[in-house]
Amino acid sequence: MRKPVIAGNWKMNNTIAAATSLINELKPLVADAEAEVVICVPYTAIQKAAELTRGTNIAVGAENVAWADKGAFTGEISAEMLKEVGAEYVIIGHSERRQMFGETDETVNMRTVQALKYSLKPIVCVGETLEEREGGKTETVVKRQTEGAFKGISAAELDNVIIAYEPVWAIGTGKTATSEQANETIKYIRSVVAGLYGKATADKLRIQYGGSMNPSNAAALMAQPDIDGGLIGGASLKAADFSKVVKY
Ligand code: PEP
Repeated sequence: MRKPVIAGNWKMNNTIAAATSLINELKPLVADAEAEVVICVPYTAIQKAAELTRGTNIAVGAENVAWADKGAFTGEISAEMLKEVGAEYVIIGHSERRQMFGETDETVNMRTVQALKYSLKPIVCVGETLEEREGGKTETVVKRQTEGAFKGISAAELDNVIIAYEPVWAIGTGKTATSEQANETIKYIRSVVAGLYGKATADKLRIQYGGSMNPSNAAALMAQPDIDGGLIGGASLKAADFSKVVKY
């Protein structure tokens, strides 16, 4: 049985003060959740978020991590630094990073390897653009991204990894993949993982859906057999909405 995991991706939103109010509002609303709850927050809010959620069922994550231990990487942040302030998870290869900041399958792989080296749990994002979907390339793209992300990573390490399937055309657009579309691609991604690591490992791996998931579509998405959770952008910024997704 794969335990569902609902993760918020705050993106570049919330000062420490705003994060404090949001987390304080969220805590009682999700205290009895059956799903695992994660909030991935801006670097500046991680330490406060970790402090405020200590002893609760909410885990804290970052939104990226450097591929090197330390050194001349201006603007990057290391896995050790993230661990030090209390991050447990880290989003890697989000489509916004791939599209606007030059992230590639290779850098996604390097960051994933580095996260695992420091026992940070990666949430690795894959997903096709609208043009790729309309061109019939969805499977080719997610296969390339999945195989690229996990080069050199062992089956044992995969136990600490989550994949987020996020069709780029559904992120922040209000367009959701239908539950069936999302499940079909996630099932395909699981078969790609099975090709790399065998069926038993693939069957244990949690794969989330992400892309305009909200209180009104979460239940239908989560009812699909291959969807093990959600990566939630916009709806994670309001405690009431996020808690409703968590308790789909
Ligand atoms: C995301 O950015 O990971 C995401 C899924 O965003 P939204 O829920 O706003 O579409």
